[in-house]
Amino acid sequence: MRASFRLGRIVGVPVGVNWSVLVIFALIWWGLSANLFPQSYPDRSTVAYLLAGLAAAVVFFLGLLAHEVSHAVVAKRNGLGVQGITLWLFGGVAELRGEARSPGAELRISGVGPLVSLIIGVFFGAVATLLAVAGVEGLLLGVMAWLAGINLLLAVFNILPAAPLDGGRLLRAAVWKATGDRTRATVVAARAGWVLGLALIGFGLWRFLSGTGVGGLWLALIGWFLIGAATMEERQARVGDALRGVRVAEVMTPQPQTASGELTVADFVDNYLFAYRHTALPLIEDGRPVGLVTLDRVRGVPSDERGSTTLAAVACRAEDLVLASPDEPLTDLLPRLNECADGRALVVTEGRLIGIVSPSDISRAVQRSSMRDQLNAGR
Ligand SMILES: [Zn+2]
Repeated sequence: MRASFRLGRIVGVPVGVNWSVLVIFALIWWGLSANLFPQSYPDRSTVAYLLAGLAAAVVFFLGLLAHEVSHAVVAKRNGLGVQGITLWLFGGVAELRGEARSPGAELRISGVGPLVSLIIGVFFGAVATLLAVAGVEGLLLGVMAWLAGINLLLAVFNILPAAPLDGGRLLRAAVWKATGDRTRATVVAARAGWVLGLALIGFGLWRFLSGTGVGGLWLALIGWFLIGAATMEERQARVGDALRGVRVAEVMTPQPQTASGELTVADFVDNYLFAYRHTALPLIEDGRPVGLVTLDRVRGVPSDERGSTTLAAVACRAEDLVLASPDEPLTDLLPRLNECADGRALVVTEGRLIGIVSPSDISRAVQRSSMRDQLNAGR
C-alpha cells in the first residue's frame, strides 16, 4: 500500500496516509454526526454533532495508529526492520522487512496489535462507565462509548484466525510451532483467509440484498480484499520456499546498462531502445543509482513531448527505489519489491550499482529450484 502523503515519523518509522483513508474517515464522521449521535442524543445543534463526530473519528484513527505502531515497535525489538506504517481504506498496515525468525517472535509481533486495541477499548469503556456513574450524559458519553465499542470490535475482528489479519499470523505461529514448517503454516493461514473472505462476502451480500443495510456491501468488500491478500501470501510463501537459501547475487543481472537522467526520452528511443535487451533502465550519477525508468513509463510519454522530457522526469525517484545488497537472502528482498518500477530492485555495494533484480530473474530462479527438486526426486 503506497502512502499518498507522509505524516512524519514515530519511533523512527515513517508514517504515511493513503488517500483512500479519507473515504473511511468521511464515512465515519458522517455516520456519527448525521445518524448515530442525532438518533441517540436528539435536540443538539448540528455543530455539536459535527464536532463530536470529528473528535471520535480523529481519536479512532489515533487508536488505529497506536495499533500499528505497537506492531512496528515489537517487530524492531525482534530484529526486524520496519519499512513504514500506512493508514488506508481497510485500516492500517505496518510493512515489515523480512519475516519473523521464530514462532515466538511472530506471536509477539502479531499479538501486540489486537492487545493494544483491546486496552484502548477497555480504557474508553471505563471512562464511559465513570461518566455514566457520575451522571454525565449526552454527546461526550456517546463519543466515549462509541470509541470503546469500535476499538473492542477492532481487537475482536483482528484476532479472527485468518490471513492477512493479525489472528491469521497467530494461527501461522501456532501451526509453525507445532509442525516446524513455516510454509505449511502460511498456507493454512491463507486458506483460512479464503474461508473468512468467502463468509464475509456471503454474509455481506445477504445483508445487503435482504435490505438490512448498505453496510453489507462494506463487509463483502473487506471479504474480497481478504481473499486477494490471502492468495498473495500463499503464493509468496510457495515462492519463498522455493528460494530458501538463494542470495540476491545469484539471481541478479550483473552490470546492467545504465543512463544519465538528463538524457531525453527522444534520445533514449533513438539511441538506446533497440540495442537494449531489458525493460528497465537504472539512472546513474557518479556510479550511484538515482532513479529507474521502465519501458512502460517511457511509452507513456506522448511523442510530441519526448524531445523535452528527461528520463529523470518519468523515472521512479531515488527515495522510492528498492535497494538490495548482493549477500542478502532473496526471500528477505521479496516483500520489499513494491509497485514502483514494477517489482524491480537495484543491487548496490557501498552505494554503487552492481546489478538489477527483475521479476523475470525471480521466476527463473523459482523454475530452476523446482527443476532441481524434480531432478533430485527422480534420482
Ligand atoms: Zn494489527
